[in-house]
Amino acid sequence: MEDLCSFSTRLCVTSAAALSFACWSFVPNREMGEAMSRALRIAGVALMAFVSLLAQNAANAQTKWQPHDLNRPQPAVIDPGMSGSGETGGRAPSDAIVLFGGKDLAAWSQKDGGPATWKVTPEYFEVVPKSGYIYTRQAFGDCQLHVEFAEPSPARGEGQDRGNSGVILMGLYEIQVLDSYENKTYPDGQAAAVYGQYPPLVNAARPPGQWQSYDIIFRGPRFANGKLVRAGRVTVLHNGVLVQDNVEIHGPTASDKPDEPHAEKLPLALQDHNHPVRYRNIWIRELPE
Ligand code: MG
Repeated sequence: MEDLCSFSTRLCVTSAAALSFACWSFVPNREMGEAMSRALRIAGVALMAFVSLLAQNAANAQTKWQPHDLNRPQPAVIDPGMSGSGETGGRAPSDAIVLFGGKDLAAWSQKDGGPATWKVTPEYFEVVPKSGYIYTRQAFGDCQLHVEFAEPSPARGEGQDRGNSGVILMGLYEIQVLDSYENKTYPDGQAAAVYGQYPPLVNAARPPGQWQSYDIIFRGPRFANGKLVRAGRVTVLHNGVLVQDNVEIHGPTASDKPDEPHAEKLPLALQDHNHPVRYRNIWIRELPE
């Protein structure tokens, strides 16, 4: 409805602007008197003033508030927490849902809904090879997600077979976790790639054993009447560096197929790819539309 109003306003403004310009720039022919010409020019100026008023109203309608309006609601005050640094784990913002804060994997389950069986210590948890993916018990859609991870040290294997795991948004869209420190592989499969779709803008990987972070802003796809009406989009910062800049996701990353309609919220998954990757300080903030 809001889109329709804004479209009508834009249409009205554009038509009035075109009409006023036509009137103002009208050149009378010999038969037309000077008085008619003057009247048209005055009408043009009046229409331009009307256009300006319409444009101002449209801008006000969009923001609802005047610039510097003290009556505008104040943003909620939160404790922003702290990112982990080196061996010190961070702290989640006060309005985030903590998915792992160093205690247990109560927020996670195996695929069958049973308790997550990955190894847990007071500082981190670790993939137990061949135990299977783990999934959040809560479903999420649009979100800001913070994840810290450390690759196995010393490094073992090459290419995709070194420190492979994954942060899988909605259980469908994988942000690759891989030991990409001095380890060549196909670019759209290295650390911080949207797997199989977008290589990261730069390789910001730290050496194995060191803690790293992903900060992810995700907008899930939208479907209507069984069709995709808005593709998913994702922004990723790897160790604080922008590596995915609001890219459009083309379907689930584990296949070449386009998006099939699915719910607006689904569990977040972490991938077991047979490598003992460690995770800590995972939190998520659900984003409004
Ligand atoms: Mg992976």
